[in-house]
Amino acid sequence: MIHELSLDARLGLDKYEIDEEQSHIHIEHALCPACELKPCLTVCPAAVYVMADGVVVARYENCVECGTCQIACDTGGNGAITWNPPRGGFGIVYRYG
Ligand code: SF4
Ligand code: SF4
Repeated sequence: MIHELSLDARLGLDKYEIDEEQSHIHIEHALCPACELKPCLTVCPAAVYVMADGVVVARYENCVECGTCQIACDTGGNGAITWNPPRGGFGIVYRYG
């Protein structure tokens, strides 16, 4: 019998080296209020972007480095996201490919 893992369970298999000093995601917050669709809140597979007190924030420590948010914000949002790879030695470590 094959048991399918939930997304949370699969993400839990990966390891993160969290950069406590510096986020690899920058949001130009002034551009967000006029962004009607706010695709960042729905496209991220790791639910990094959330609303907190009316402001979009990035919980960058959960990022799985797929790059989707940059494309979504540039094409369906207001271009507020600047995403760079985490500094060397930091970020996600995939255990299975
Ligand atoms: S998609 Fe970009 S511009 Fe729109 S709310 Fe998210 S970060 Fe802001
Ligand atoms: S790169 Fe992927 S996982 Fe990381 S914040 Fe963007 S959409 Fe989410």
